Amino acid sequence: MTDQNLFEMVKQHLCSCSTDLVMDRNVEAVLKMPRREMHASIPVRMDDGKIRAFQGFRVQYNDALGPTKGGIRFHPDETIDTIRGLAALMTWKCALHNLPLGGAKGGIVCNPKDLSEHELERLSRAYVQVMFPYLGPDRDIPAPDVYTNPAVMAWMMDEYSKIAGKTSFGSFTGKPVGLGGSEGRLDATARGGWYIVREAARDIGMNISGAGVAVQGFGNVGSHAALIGQEVFGARVVAVSDSRGGVYNPDGLAVHELVSHKAATGSVQHFPGATNITNEELIELPVEILVPAALENVISSRNAPQVRAGIVAEFANGPVDNDADEILFEKGTTVLPDFLTNGGGVIVSYFEMVQNFNMDQWDEGKVHRKLEKKMTDAYREVHDLASQNNVPLRKAAYSIAVARVVEAMRKRGWV
Ligand code: NAD
Repeated sequence: MTDQNLFEMVKQHLCSCSTDLVMDRNVEAVLKMPRREMHASIPVRMDDGKIRAFQGFRVQYNDALGPTKGGIRFHPDETIDTIRGLAALMTWKCALHNLPLGGAKGGIVCNPKDLSEHELERLSRAYVQVMFPYLGPDRDIPAPDVYTNPAVMAWMMDEYSKIAGKTSFGSFTGKPVGLGGSEGRLDATARGGWYIVREAARDIGMNISGAGVAVQGFGNVGSHAALIGQEVFGARVVAVSDSRGGVYNPDGLAVHELVSHKAATGSVQHFPGATNITNEELIELPVEILVPAALENVISSRNAPQVRAGIVAEFANGPVDNDADEILFEKGTTVLPDFLTNGGGVIVSYFEMVQNFNMDQWDEGKVHRKLEKKMTDAYREVHDLASQNNVPLRKAAYSIAVARVVEAMRKRGWV
């Protein structure tokens, strides 16, 4: 882990592409600040009858391209700067994937593992009560992120609907199927990420069938990354981890059984036939593909030289810090940047909104086909620009995304 601040890292990337875009300093200054941010004190009655105050945030980074969109994270170490950085990344992500949406992110400083289900529900509803004036299908549409899930989105959508006095499925995405949710949303981030890995592997002549893969994180994104990698793309998943540590078997892990093992024991560790490893050891394993799918800043100048994977696919947001980015580029490692690689979640969230607005329900095959096209189109565009200018994929992705946001701001007369 490093101490690099995610928001500062994102701003540095923005500056590094502004020369290529010949961007006016004042325009750059606009893009380096969130358009609007809300800080809230959220009182919640706990099961013991006492009131506890939680701290919550919502950052609406830029809405030039449309209503803002981005997840809500529940985490004990949440900070406003991480949320700002994540909200900026959402802005570039929606622009890069050509969605008519701006970027936002929210969070509550809390440890959901210490809360009962009823407390979690009251906290989720209380967040909506305080943020209500700033949310809505044509303002800002939240979705799940770290330690939030479809159940939390259902409570939040319900609370929003109660206050609005009408059912508003389009106010939140990542809802359960049967309650306005889309088929294919649950594994969309991981599936979309694998489409990008497949394209990149083709370009560097790597065969992903049988390739060794290590996945850090075994939540929504990480567990589906391991399952889809193994079942759809034929990769050999040799290591996975969660917040307590990881497991490694060079011959491959039975991922389905690992899911049951984690559900039964609360951790992936002590999986029969595998060796326990630390999260730090996982990063340095001899694998072809490394998939950080947990938190930010896990690859820094300290461990980047030891990374042995040919592809580092950022399924998480911000897992490679800026120093590590340079080291990996020099080494010839292909780093697949977060806002390109993990865009599948917001793409299918957008599909969910389209279905909600049209009172429609698409089948899973349709969602997968449309997702695959959007992901591969974005990859090709980024790859072509990166090859043309001999720059890292991340820099090319920033150039494309930022140019689209600037163009929208210009057309709206903001700059
Ligand atoms: P999640 O809460 O479902 O899972 C998080 C996982 O990370 C858990 O397995 C947890 O044990 C693990 N973890 C927590 N702290 C850790 C640590 N210090 N070291 C190693 N593992 C640790 O969250 P998620 O939705 O899977 O999100 C994971 C990442 O993907 C985040 O960066 C998130 O912003 C990003 N992301 C998520 C989505 C989405 O649709 N859920 C979309 C785009 C990006």
